[in-house]
Amino acid sequence: MKSRSKTRLGDATHCIHAGEERHGSNRGLATEIDLASVFVVPGVEELRRYAEGKSSAYLYTRYANPTTRAAEVKLAALEDGEDCVVTASGMAAAMVAVLACCRSGDEIVSMLDIYGGTLKLFQNLLPRLGVRTRFVPFHQLERVETYFSRRTRMLFLESPTNPTLRCPELERLCAIGRRRGACVLVDNTFATPILQKPLALGADLVLHSATKYLGGHSDVTAGALVGPRKWVGPARQTMVQSGGCLDPAASYLLIRGLKTLEVRVERACRNAARIAEVLSGHPKVTRVLYPGLPGNQGHAAARRQMRDFGMMVSFEIRGGGRAAERFIDRLRLWYLATSLGGVESTVSYPVLSSHVGLAKKTLKLLDVSAATVRLSVGIEDADDLIADLDQALDAA
Ligand code: PLP
Repeated sequence: MKSRSKTRLGDATHCIHAGEERHGSNRGLATEIDLASVFVVPGVEELRRYAEGKSSAYLYTRYANPTTRAAEVKLAALEDGEDCVVTASGMAAAMVAVLACCRSGDEIVSMLDIYGGTLKLFQNLLPRLGVRTRFVPFHQLERVETYFSRRTRMLFLESPTNPTLRCPELERLCAIGRRRGACVLVDNTFATPILQKPLALGADLVLHSATKYLGGHSDVTAGALVGPRKWVGPARQTMVQSGGCLDPAASYLLIRGLKTLEVRVERACRNAARIAEVLSGHPKVTRVLYPGLPGNQGHAAARRQMRDFGMMVSFEIRGGGRAAERFIDRLRLWYLATSLGGVESTVSYPVLSSHVGLAKKTLKLLDVSAATVRLSVGIEDADDLIADLDQALDAA
């Protein structure tokens, strides 16, 4: 991995320390899980100060909670953002961001290559609230500006994309979005703040499904928005008013997962690079989608905007859908699971999960077919992962 310049504490240090300072105190070394839904107010004067916006006392867990706050401070530090609000899921974070930015009559410009759940939010739910989305297919990103109108309030980006791992040029797109007065949001779930810092590339808000790498152990559902107070403030108010707060126990699991984020990412990146190389030379594989390979669409942009090429590898199998299904069912170590980002290596089959029900034309634009298989590479021994892929490919 390339290392960044040393003007701040390193990411691995932030992972462990940010939001949890306790030098000179008699507190436990691990952050306490404060399960209270409500807090005692010391007196009416404090309540008055709170009402006037002058107190940072805890009142009610949906508004703020000490365990949840520690997770937020840690994530803000990792993304180099002023503030963070965590939410009950990644989708809750997306909904909060949209409600904080847009009102009826407004428009969003979004990449077409975004997580399927977000696509459904934009296509099915938001029109009922009077918010319309214009989708930009990947090959049209050069012309993104033609999708903007006077009513555009948000530019929604995601990189690397799912499942083809294409990498749009974030810096260029962020600059266009900002020039047009839109709030530029980047879903950084696949890259994590260890590999990519969208705020430094010009984004206004970073979105995470913390359910994935940030939690990292397939045992917590959470989301986050990070950015300047100008955007996180309204997002927090929207979260409080719409109710999708993160539970304190889940916040603790998120903190615990984040402690090892840097080392997990480093190991998984190394595994992914080896796996991509092996698949590239395999006779049963017709195409490998991984931004680390020089011929890949995302390679140049990934080199510029990411610290390493990520933990996801997709590929197309010779023999199409039938072969893909046989391959997946033959795996003994890799689990068939529709999420990603855990310590365990998992495989997903987009046409029957994230991309199920999409029109053929849309699948073509997204470059997804029945032969596409997506791997979320975990932190097991690479040799074992490769041996399992090999035997399943042989049987496919
Ligand atoms: N963004 C991306 C890139 C995702 O992959 C997902 C979920 O898979 C989400 C957002 C939504 O997150 P959650 O499932 O935590 O609501």
